[in-house]
Amino acid sequence: PLILGIESSCDDTAAAVLRGREILSNVVLGQTDLHAAFGGVVPEIAARAHAEKVDIGVEQALAEAGVPLSAIDAIAVTAGPGLIGGVLAGVMCAKGLAAATGKPLIGVNHLAGHALTPRLTDDVPFPYLLLLVSGGHCQFLLVRGPEAFTRLGGTIDDAPGEAFDKTARLLALPQPGGPQVERCARAGDPGRFRLPRPLLDRPGCDMSFSGLKTALLRTRDAVIAEKGGLTERDRADLCAGFQAAVTDILAEKSRRAIALYDAERPAIRTLAVAGGVAANGPIRAALQTLCAGTETHFVAPPLALCTDNAAMIAYAGGERLRLGHRDGMTLAARPRWPLDDRAPALLGSGK
Ligand code: ATP
Ligand code: FE
Repeated sequence: PLILGIESSCDDTAAAVLRGREILSNVVLGQTDLHAAFGGVVPEIAARAHAEKVDIGVEQALAEAGVPLSAIDAIAVTAGPGLIGGVLAGVMCAKGLAAATGKPLIGVNHLAGHALTPRLTDDVPFPYLLLLVSGGHCQFLLVRGPEAFTRLGGTIDDAPGEAFDKTARLLALPQPGGPQVERCARAGDPGRFRLPRPLLDRPGCDMSFSGLKTALLRTRDAVIAEKGGLTERDRADLCAGFQAAVTDILAEKSRRAIALYDAERPAIRTLAVAGGVAANGPIRAALQTLCAGTETHFVAPPLALCTDNAAMIAYAGGERLRLGHRDGMTLAARPRWPLDDRAPALLGSGK
């Protein structure tokens, strides 16, 4: 079937058309310029921009796909979690299109979109282990089906994407910080500043990134106090030290998540990553190496499908459609929408 996907939960207005797993178009209208002066995403500005651009995005996606709206079989839209004004703009647009065409409307959880992306790009059977690392989230999930997720553990404070963005801000690099920190770190020495790796010695898959952020701030201030400012070299070394710490945390906790399932469910042979931080080269490389050493199949979607996009929403919507799911005009925009908040019995063992 032909699915139109719409995404507007953060600072990218996106629309895409998919035929099965074939991406006919994948339009992302970013808002980086609008938020640049504020050092982060301003919800009010984002909501207004989504309301202005969502129709344009949809038209562009249909045009690039060469498909008239009347040929679309279903309309999938991010219904949460995210900045509520933006989510509303997308949901309103999708409802309008569904009402006008009489085609089914399908609300999609943004995180499910990220979490199912490995199946859009690769032949990954259920169940698989997923590390979801994005701007607002960080968790290990067992993905059992398009609507079945079991959380194994995750961050107890900040998400790594947030930490990357904060690091960029502390070092006067532009937003979004992830790609900037990665680029800056290339010239850096990860060994010069040894930043902490919180919770690394604790059992389980939980992670913490807020201490790392604070340590980076202190280290930066110590350098400034000593030398009166930061050189390019200092910046590169700080970025490299920070990125190495995040990479070590994610790799070590991934090793534990894999080990957990090796013992308990030998059927699971794949670790996939998704979310904006999964676009990071050194993090991908570390997970690839880890998986090679544990005979685990590693799947990392292409960069453009890791960060926010509507192809993942169209794909997840298609999977829900296949399961018979339909939403009506009562579909609500949800600022919060956990994928799964049940504590799995499996983790009761305290591993
Ligand atoms: P969520 O999906 O949790 O609601 P979001 O939609 O804002 O949050 P994504 O678009 O999935 O997040 O990811 C954006 C985050 O990914 C930002 O914090 C950004 O800095 C980070 N990011 C993007 N590219 C990279 C990279 N190359 N290295 C590290 N982080 C990156
Ligand atoms: Fe996202």
